[in-house]
Amino acid sequence: MTDKNPTTKSMDDIMALCKRRGFVYQASEIYGGINGFWDYGPLGAQLKKNLRDAWWQDVVMNPCQGKPGPNGQPVRIVPVDTCIIQNPKVWEASGHVGGFNDPMVDCRETKNRYRADHLLCIGEKGDKAGRMYVYIEANEKSYEAARKKLDKYKKRTLNDDEIDICSLTDLSADGLAISVGPDATEAGTLTEPRAFNLMFPTVIGATGDLEDNKAYLRPETAQGIFINFKNVVDTTRVGVPFGIAQTGKAFRNEVTPRNFTFRSREFEQMEIEFFCHPDEAKDWYVFWRDWRMSWWQEIGLAGDNLILREHDRDELAHYAKEGAGTSDIEYRFPFTAPGYGELEGIADRTDFDLKQHAEHSGLGDKLKYFDPTRGELAKNGQPKGERYFPYVIEPSAGLDRGVLAILCEAYTPDPDRPSKVFMKFHPRVAPIKAAVFPLVNKDGMPEKAAELHRELVKRFGHLGMIETDAKQSIGKRYARMDEAGCPLCFTIDGQTMTDNTITVRDRDTAGQQRIAMTDAGDHLAAALGL
Ligand code: ATP
Repeated sequence: MTDKNPTTKSMDDIMALCKRRGFVYQASEIYGGINGFWDYGPLGAQLKKNLRDAWWQDVVMNPCQGKPGPNGQPVRIVPVDTCIIQNPKVWEASGHVGGFNDPMVDCRETKNRYRADHLLCIGEKGDKAGRMYVYIEANEKSYEAARKKLDKYKKRTLNDDEIDICSLTDLSADGLAISVGPDATEAGTLTEPRAFNLMFPTVIGATGDLEDNKAYLRPETAQGIFINFKNVVDTTRVGVPFGIAQTGKAFRNEVTPRNFTFRSREFEQMEIEFFCHPDEAKDWYVFWRDWRMSWWQEIGLAGDNLILREHDRDELAHYAKEGAGTSDIEYRFPFTAPGYGELEGIADRTDFDLKQHAEHSGLGDKLKYFDPTRGELAKNGQPKGERYFPYVIEPSAGLDRGVLAILCEAYTPDPDRPSKVFMKFHPRVAPIKAAVFPLVNKDGMPEKAAELHRELVKRFGHLGMIETDAKQSIGKRYARMDEAGCPLCFTIDGQTMTDNTITVRDRDTAGQQRIAMTDAGDHLAAALGL
């Protein structure tokens, strides 16, 4: 399923297919669009739902697909569905108000705006006074452009070992003055990095005074889980270790939304907060990190385009303590290649969030968990119990980034006919599960096709679309389904009318076989791994 040379895939082609086949549209397109927002069309909405449902099934309904946790016990997860707007104090406690800032630089020459922590500078080694050229990290085109500008300035081609690379955020004001922005021609046009709050403010109530009635759209779903930790413990029978999961929209006023849906201002997350005893946090971190990686592989990101990357110490988030693990599952998108972009972060958040909410809400130790299975033994030989703030392991995935990775991975131009494309989706996420075609639109075939279509919709309609189509030649109809990523096509032909057999065509091999029409459902079930 993996293209060994992913850089040959063109993002422009993938975006064009997404538009043409109704996967993704620009939001507000008829009004000229709105930067950082995307709508999903019929195929995209179903693809996204299938990925969300697969996550829900394997995380909530059948946690970790039955794999026991490091304690040898089944993993326990319960779901919640919390509000997008919460009391603003939630975001003060979490560190988002005041803390959720990305440093940003503007270019006075081009008016472009960049995340400062995404910019790197190159210059000749040892040349402190000469020009430096700024480029966008993990963006090959931008790097190449900077190299060209540097060679031109030096009037020769520098070798790699003659070049120094540093991060823009490490530059002094003097360094900035001699640096040329990624799209600029002049030096010194980049501003100093400035903080930029990513929270979307909104106003509650009809009177509309922003300061008095200010609230925020959530920038992550995680905090809705933390603030309900006590509710869940008090109202269900779960006990630590256990997890709470939810999926839902999050909003960030990203400085530079870009790369299609990869960095959007409105996106959906799939988050698990897994609560465990501090002594067991390391084991649970490793368990979640490895299981999440295998989950993405199983859903179709199985090749070298997917990597697990443990964070360097200087990348650790504000809540991460030294020694607490943090890693990213990253995918090599066509626009990041040869680098990678984050799909999911797995972090040991320690007891940071629960303690913050304990302090800011005034609940204090009442937010601690009472664990009756721990503590010293009483005279009767039973543990006395222990009260503590659990540590939290957070696997936090982006649904839209998952969909985008799946779209990029699936996109496979026909080597013989580049204008023809196969979307090689894993059958579990494929938006269309099967198509039923009458070979020709007469001789009783459309009626037979309608009969089989009805039967398959009844049995598989909860998993995805079952298409039927009688227009155009059968070859064109197959090609349309290949491009939509439909794994199987069933065709009713002249022979069906005599012996009730049909052909099944496989998307990936184009191979056909004859089966009894009554076996079509079981054949599809097997292809879907049911
Ligand atoms: P980045 O460094 O790319 O901004 P992040 O580390 O801030 O991401 P998290 O806060 O860990 O991201 O969010 C968890 C997940 O949510 C990410 O792994 C990603 O899949 C998704 N996500 C975050 N920001 C965006 C965005 N602007 N657009 C789409 N998905 C996003």
